[in-house]
Amino acid sequence: MNPLLTNLVLNEGGCFRCALRFSGELSLNNYLSVTSDYTSFLTKTQHPCTICLGILNPNSYLNYTHNTILASNYEFNDYKFQVILPPIVYLRNEYILGKCKLSGINPVKVIEIKDVFKWMFSPSLGVLLNKKFNVDSDFRVNIDFGCSDSEEEVKRFYNEFGCRVKESLQTVFKSVNHERLVACFPIVKNFLPEIKVSCSYAPVYVAGNYMKYSRKVSQTPWSVEGSSEVIDSVQDCLSRPLVEAFKSSGCTLHSSGREDIDVRMLGRGRPFILEIAESKSALSGFNKINDLHNIINSSNEYVKVSPLKKVGKDYFDEIRKGEEGKLKVYSCIVWSEKSISQSDMDYITSLPALELQQKTPIRVMHRRSLKTRQKFILKMQAYYINPHFFQLRLVSSAGTYIKEFVHSDFGRTTPSINKLLGCKTDILQLDVLGLGWDLEEVKDLLTSEIE
Ligand SMILES: [Zn+2]
Repeated sequence: MNPLLTNLVLNEGGCFRCALRFSGELSLNNYLSVTSDYTSFLTKTQHPCTICLGILNPNSYLNYTHNTILASNYEFNDYKFQVILPPIVYLRNEYILGKCKLSGINPVKVIEIKDVFKWMFSPSLGVLLNKKFNVDSDFRVNIDFGCSDSEEEVKRFYNEFGCRVKESLQTVFKSVNHERLVACFPIVKNFLPEIKVSCSYAPVYVAGNYMKYSRKVSQTPWSVEGSSEVIDSVQDCLSRPLVEAFKSSGCTLHSSGREDIDVRMLGRGRPFILEIAESKSALSGFNKINDLHNIINSSNEYVKVSPLKKVGKDYFDEIRKGEEGKLKVYSCIVWSEKSISQSDMDYITSLPALELQQKTPIRVMHRRSLKTRQKFILKMQAYYINPHFFQLRLVSSAGTYIKEFVHSDFGRTTPSINKLLGCKTDILQLDVLGLGWDLEEVKDLLTSEIE
């Protein structure tokens, strides 16, 4: 400990722990060993430290923090925490630094109040909670110190140094004139901090595939197309049971692409991640993970899911890659103006891969840029129903507009079923049967029974 520094800090009404900080002390034991000194310091000065405002006497906040965490009813195995300090603390700290420099004492390293607070507070809190501190924990205790009485003084500082309130104090301090700071902001007032404690869970993620069996269910609740016809959304069907299981404030669906509201998603379904926000019961939620799909599937008629798994944030990449690169398998019911026969079906089925030129469809012109996109139909399989209707199954590259491939969109998509059959055609129903990385992975969907 540097005696000159220590005297300077103590003379300004600072505490022993702040004096240790200015001496660059790194040993936790040395901070803890001044406990008795701290008590005598408080008795002597009748007020807490003018620099850290007594925040470095963390034991006084321990019970309150512990009780608030218990009362918030969160389930957690371990924890980390975040500390926010009021601006006045930084201002006072910088004042002392300026004072040191003007007195010709240059502290080699000043330890941050936040760090010392965490070192001292964390082990004691851990003992009370009977949980381990873990820097990677999803559960966070937020300790937010404020000091409303000091706001005037901080405002005066911003005015005095002509800086915008949005600028952080740390940025302002980089170019601050210490002589002026020391002259204008002598420590005359004592402030007491206020403490607010809250808890939060980082979002948790579960992944699976969903099947959608209705043409009146949109993917997200705020979808507007055909709104009077919308009876539910995929996101809501998945969210309702999970919000309950995780005691969450809400869920967001992230899926590998989307289908139109009137298109069913059958077969193996579409991969998705459900982001569960502000979960309070992450632990019991994940304990139920093997059963969550049953809970979702029995809670509604329209949307079913495969078994779910817990995933990390990195899984988003996989979902995104799938959206951009995976082949899609569709089934549609096609109407033909001219009378068709089995030989037309054989002709369509025998065709090799087709390269399409698709101009932006008229129905999506309002939200997509106008251009011609090159897409592929890799394989088709046609099933005769009657002289004017047939079922068409096909494998296409990602992002192909299937409705337009069938009716040609006034010749904006070429070739099209319209052109291949040489007559007017239209699409009556469209279903997605599955997604896959290559033809081999999905070709059985062209011939298999789909429930
Ligand atoms: Zn202090």
